[in-house]
Amino acid sequence: MKFKILFGVGVSLLIIAAGTYMHTNEGFDFTGSTGGLNHLFFMLPGSKTAYIGKDFSLPDADIDVPVYDKYTLKQRREKGLPLTYGKTRTYFYGDHVAYLTFDDGPNKANTEKILDILKKEKIHATFFLMGKNIEKNPDIVKQIYDDGNAIGLHSYSHDYKKLYRSPKAYTDELEKTEELIYNIIGVRPIISRAPGGTSGHFTKAYWTAVNDLGYIEVGWNALTGDADGTGRTSGQEVTNLQKQLIIRPYLNSHLVILMHDAVGHEATVQALPQIIKLLKNQGYTFRVVTTAIPPAW
Ligand SMILES: [Zn+2]
Repeated sequence: MKFKILFGVGVSLLIIAAGTYMHTNEGFDFTGSTGGLNHLFFMLPGSKTAYIGKDFSLPDADIDVPVYDKYTLKQRREKGLPLTYGKTRTYFYGDHVAYLTFDDGPNKANTEKILDILKKEKIHATFFLMGKNIEKNPDIVKQIYDDGNAIGLHSYSHDYKKLYRSPKAYTDELEKTEELIYNIIGVRPIISRAPGGTSGHFTKAYWTAVNDLGYIEVGWNALTGDADGTGRTSGQEVTNLQKQLIIRPYLNSHLVILMHDAVGHEATVQALPQIIKLLKNQGYTFRVVTTAIPPAW
């Protein structure tokens, strides 16, 4: 009973918080955009993607397609092209917008099943891929891309000791991983998620190193608990998310949900249709992570 009352309050707050708006950073100095349409290219029927400009201008903040770069960092250096968008970018804040994100893939056990569910639900998600697993499953990387889902970087090794030895060690793994992805799909991602999160891993020097190379770090503000022991079953995963929607309704403008598609996360695959249903019932729509993703918190 107590739960029901709380739930009602949560929904009311969600309604009060409604309202789509665009937010621009203070001191915003964004001059490079040549307009959204110029960045849009049609790939396969029904699926499209956007690109950052040669001058590293970012696409319009309200686009809802994956954003990639046609050049790798290596190619940009060789051609003398800019390596970053600069210090500020425009954020997109929506009204009941959810970003489903999956880390640690791709793999044969779960990623393809997740892709099937997304297709069936006619929605897209974002996959933060690990270099080691990309090497093993290039065909799945291609499938994620062809389906119109977004791809982000999630290091090469996922080995904290190696990865967080220094900012250079960290960005070297990003570069290694973007090269692997470029070799499969012909473009590279610039969104990235730090394994284990930035908290406790990133010093200021890491943020600077990441920004200097134009990568956009993507955190999360909701999770199903599929990797922290609280979401061992699909039912627990759904309940965990449900509770977070109630206690943090103000996050509805950019609800970034952390999940995992690595081996051992079969419960996440099982929970996914229920998670999508739960969010749809609360009025959420689904977007892919773009270069306009706001800071998670
Ligand atoms: Zn991870």
